[in-house]
Amino acid sequence: MNSLRCPNCSSPVFLETLDCPTCTASIGFHAPTRGFFLVGAEGSEIEIDGSVWVACSNRFWKCNWLADTSQPSGACRACRLTRRQPSNDDTLALERLADTAVDKRRLLVQLNDLGLPVVPFYEREGGLAFDLVSSRSGEPVTIGHANGVITIDLAESLDDYRETLRVKLGEVYRTVLGHFRHEVGHYFQNILVDTDERWAECRRLFGDERTSYSDAIARHYRYGAPATWRESFISDYATMHPWEDFAETFAHYLHITGTVATAAGSGLILHADRVGFTGVGDIVARFSYADRTIEELLADWHWLSLMFNRVNRSMGLGDFYPFDLTEPVITKLSFVHALVTDARG
Ligand SMILES: [Zn+2]
Ligand SMILES: [Zn+2]
Ligand SMILES: [Zn+2]
Repeated sequence: MNSLRCPNCSSPVFLETLDCPTCTASIGFHAPTRGFFLVGAEGSEIEIDGSVWVACSNRFWKCNWLADTSQPSGACRACRLTRRQPSNDDTLALERLADTAVDKRRLLVQLNDLGLPVVPFYEREGGLAFDLVSSRSGEPVTIGHANGVITIDLAESLDDYRETLRVKLGEVYRTVLGHFRHEVGHYFQNILVDTDERWAECRRLFGDERTSYSDAIARHYRYGAPATWRESFISDYATMHPWEDFAETFAHYLHITGTVATAAGSGLILHADRVGFTGVGDIVARFSYADRTIEELLADWHWLSLMFNRVNRSMGLGDFYPFDLTEPVITKLSFVHALVTDARG
């Protein structure tokens, strides 16, 4: 998979780039081909593969996707997945929405890269929708998933608010993208675990999801996670209930595959002879591990994440990936890998 490049000057750009930092050209992301196209004056049309596209009507709010003109709203597919958002006069919340939607679009690109099916809420009851609302706008907001609808508190895009919560909850990692990846795990569990055999395997690995959720919450916030949680869970929160264990595991599958794909798009190779690894060859990040085993993915991830941890430390930051993958966690990730690769097939 090629990396993301400016269509005008071929310089590397980020997934969220609106104007090329090198040549200043305005560019728009065309999700079906995973490529960038030049965006002209407002309303100019771009013909791609026989259909006509325009810049998304939310471009002012940082959306860099192109919108298919055969759709009525003028908004791109990512924006149309948002079911609820702040009112038009709530400028502060709309600014938070603009930042939060960057992560939503990154999530959607990754789901597409992995070949995971996304059916919008307006096409099917229970399809994917996002309620992106702020707890600072006068109503309480609980981050979560219910019947295809993912709710995110826009206040989480405020660094001071999110960091305060992270420290209070004793978490080593808390990001808006992480919330999206966790909540979409709940969405996909119901879609991908679709046979009695798969449910049996899922319950064997994660526990029986039919146990009371409200009892689980009460127990978790009263007593916390068991002292030995690190032996078999990816996070403290995963111990709360089997639904949460699956969602946390799914989120980590997305963290790992997303980061490795970025490394692959950047042409990253760790040369064994230059760094003195023993017993391993060069580590060549792959864009896709759909036809690879979980062991191959995690072997590459082991060395890449160690390297990224060192990079972070060299800037005085905490570890890039502050988690341990134990054997029970790897078995759960293996289950998710099988679900995702089967969905692609
Ligand atoms: Zn450029
Ligand atoms: Zn848009
Ligand atoms: Zn959850």
